[in-house]
Amino acid sequence: MSDKQRRANALPGWRDMFVLVAALSLAIGCRQATPTATSPAPTVPPTETAPEPALGAQESDARLEERMKMVDTQIRRRGVTDEDVLAAMETVPRHEFVPDHLQGQAYADHPLPIGHGQTISQPYIVALMTELLQLSNTDRVLEVGTGSGYQAAILAQIVDEVYTIEIIEPLALQARERLKRLGYTNVHVRHGDGYYGWEEHAPYDAIIVTAAPDHIPQPLIQQLKDGCRLVIPVGPPGGYQTLWQVTKEGDKIEKRNVTGVLFVPLTGEH
Ligand code: SAM
Repeated sequence: MSDKQRRANALPGWRDMFVLVAALSLAIGCRQATPTATSPAPTVPPTETAPEPALGAQESDARLEERMKMVDTQIRRRGVTDEDVLAAMETVPRHEFVPDHLQGQAYADHPLPIGHGQTISQPYIVALMTELLQLSNTDRVLEVGTGSGYQAAILAQIVDEVYTIEIIEPLALQARERLKRLGYTNVHVRHGDGYYGWEEHAPYDAIIVTAAPDHIPQPLIQQLKDGCRLVIPVGPPGGYQTLWQVTKEGDKIEKRNVTGVLFVPLTGEH
């Protein structure tokens, strides 16, 4: 059985839809930039600050229904149209990526705490950032900020290989175990400082950063293929941050301001 089949089998229910969508998607290099294809600003400003958890939230039996509703009301309705992204969001069991006592809130329209002062991002932000990467199914993608592993799982549904780096070791270990348990054989988790990228597997077809530095790390630009995209929040800790879609064009970069966001800071000595 191939890795792709194993991944599909590990995720029951919507795999047929995913396989169909994946088969239809283009398989050659970075997709061309389509400036008008991205989402309008959300009606509710996105925030990565986790709200207080509701204690004692119970698991629901209707998770698939919850997930479909989440995609419809929080993501499709806000303008995300990439069918690969929508199928991935419908497939990945987000409740498996949050602490047990928060599983009842896994499909709510906000980030959640995952321990060590970190968060799993709001579903809409995950979908928006994934769409902005303009992925193809042959891509190799780098993620900086593994956290729970949820964003990596979404990417793994769409692309060939995902390399993800997390600076907090217990989170890296936990995410690696979780992704293995869920059958994601195409995600490679490393503990380290993602500011410097992951040179060994560069260059990448896309890079996503899920914590905010105060400037765009040059090593990430260097590790991006020409014509490909980096999606990154940039700004001060707790202050106004901008989500940028950066396209590498030879020695130059083109930056597009997508929206205002609030992410946890990119940490480390730089
Ligand atoms: N993508 C994650 C998910 O799906 O759960 C959520 C990411 S959370 C908003 C940001 C993560 O970036 C945290 O886990 C944090 O520890 C990590 N982080 C912060 N600075 C980092 C760095 N320099 N290198 C790698 N990871 C970093």
